[in-house]
Amino acid sequence: MTRRTARCQCGQLSLTIEGEPRFTTACCCSRCQRRTGSSYSHIGRWPRTALVAQSGEGRVFERTGESGGLARQTFCPTCGSTVLTEVSLMPDLIGVPVGCFGDPALPAPAIAVWCENRPAWVVFPEGVPQLDQQTGAASDRS
Ligand SMILES: [Zn+2]
Ligand SMILES: [Zn+2]
Repeated sequence: MTRRTARCQCGQLSLTIEGEPRFTTACCCSRCQRRTGSSYSHIGRWPRTALVAQSGEGRVFERTGESGGLARQTFCPTCGSTVLTEVSLMPDLIGVPVGCFGDPALPAPAIAVWCENRPAWVVFPEGVPQLDQQTGAASDRS
């Protein structure tokens, strides 16, 4: 089975993840924008059992999620990269920021949310549902 390593930028904290993600998602919410410093976050979701090893020390930041529930993020205390996200609404899945793998073969988002915050120049692949969180409607800025 495929094994990939997700690493923070300094390399102190790494996770070994087995198998392919169930799906990946893009989120343009303002919290994700601030966490990443980018226009959207791209997170892969795996079953919890896919996390087979952790090396290094992580610190945890918890907040109430934009859609309710608790969001728990594990980051490297040295360089600040988030390598693991868990949300109470999806207790059986872990999230790993796709960029931590450095693997361009990981799949495109299956869905994009909070698209009311999406800059116009961000274009997701055709057919990817793009939802405005506040209305739940498909974004008219596709
Ligand atoms: Zn680090
Ligand atoms: Zn978000």
